[in-house]
Amino acid sequence: MISIGVPAEGKDEPRIGLSPETAKKLVKAGAKVTVQAGAGLRSHFSDQDYKDAGAEIAKSDTDAVSGADVVFTVRRPPLTLAKAMKKGAALIGMLDPFSDADELDALAKTGVTLFSMELMPRITRAQSMDVLSSQSNLAGYKAVVDAAAAFERALPMMMTAAGTVPAARVFIMGVGVAGLQAIATARRLGAIVTATDVRPAVKEQVASLGAKFIAVEDEEFKQAETAGGYAKEMSDAYKKKQAELVAEHVKNQDIVITTALIPGRPAPKLISKAMIESMKPGSIIVDLAAERGGNTEVTKPGEIAAHKGVRIFGLLNLPGQVPVNASSLYAKNLVSFLEPFIDKETKELAINWDDELAKGTAIARDGAIVNEMIAERLGAKSTKAARATGTATKSAPAKPKANGRAKAPAKKSGTPRQPKGGKST
Ligand code: NAD
Repeated sequence: MISIGVPAEGKDEPRIGLSPETAKKLVKAGAKVTVQAGAGLRSHFSDQDYKDAGAEIAKSDTDAVSGADVVFTVRRPPLTLAKAMKKGAALIGMLDPFSDADELDALAKTGVTLFSMELMPRITRAQSMDVLSSQSNLAGYKAVVDAAAAFERALPMMMTAAGTVPAARVFIMGVGVAGLQAIATARRLGAIVTATDVRPAVKEQVASLGAKFIAVEDEEFKQAETAGGYAKEMSDAYKKKQAELVAEHVKNQDIVITTALIPGRPAPKLISKAMIESMKPGSIIVDLAAERGGNTEVTKPGEIAAHKGVRIFGLLNLPGQVPVNASSLYAKNLVSFLEPFIDKETKELAINWDDELAKGTAIARDGAIVNEMIAERLGAKSTKAARATGTATKSAPAKPKANGRAKAPAKKSGTPRQPKGGKST
């Protein structure tokens, strides 16, 4: 029988990797589920809810994970937790694979198999496992709600006996998953919404949500989408034209939500200080790209900055501010990923290493980093990069690092899409 353990997250993370609903599903599928006492409380899931779902409650994080074949987390856990796990057990979470390489290396060396959900290939079959989508969607919603709450005027047009309140103008920059939800939310609140992106494919989606699309639609724009559906870094000439268009547009906007990201690159700077100065005092910018440096020149990650009467929200982890929904959707993503790897007859963990979703998300196995991009970032020497996660061997002692530890081996292998780089959606 497969055993699943769920520890509580750190103090800055209100979400949890398992909901009572998904616990029930796993128990029904033949799993033993153990949740640390109080782990779900910040998502309003009580220990009793988990017990009712058939789970056991453990006193400590160590008790929750020590007997587990699979551990679900939201964030990358501390090393002590991985050390408390069985060797070869699977740790599944948003492991932020492109930050703090040394810590990740140490985590890999515990012998725990690491799966990083941010690396899920974006193919149709994996849509139900796509944590970036489930969390970004909520971030897009929360960005607009936060902006509306901070905006000291109303969003919808109101015609009253005392006069007319004009509709607010909301501009969404970057129309991926978060941007689309931001458009829909702003429209529901009655704002006049415009949106921009460098990918032509979004033009129709924007129109279908009742917003107006504005962009520099030149030849480069027509080629701006990668085969994977992501944006490319634009040329300096394009950026200049885009900046002129944005400068003209932004000065008439009340709320701007920026979400623009380019895989593997810092967030593009789309709003300059001068553009912010052209906006009316009281205007609000919510920068969802804050974790990757921000889309404005003024964004302070984790803070609300103010510049000439305009407030720029650079707050992090917006999905964590809607933890009930965020945890529920995230937990469903994890269970959808795990379920095919539970043997129907024996009810044991049986990871299919030929499966592209297992290969795409695995970052460490048997003590070695098995993802090429991460291994490269770790400056690792290559052996087999675990043959695209199939046959990782114990960290073959490569060149020792200054701290005396050897790096895990790596080799060119089929890797999934480019990283979002530490994005915690
Ligand atoms: P993202 O978070 O990488 O980027 C957000 C948006 O910013 C994108 O639309 C991008 O084009 C835009 N952007 C980048 N540079 C810009 C610039 N200079 N100016 C304006 N906009 C800029 O995007 P995402 O939400 O992860 O979505 C990326 C793609 O993945 C989309 O095509 C989406 O439909 C697709 N997707 C597929 C699946 C799936 O099949 N499983 C799931 C989710 C998303």
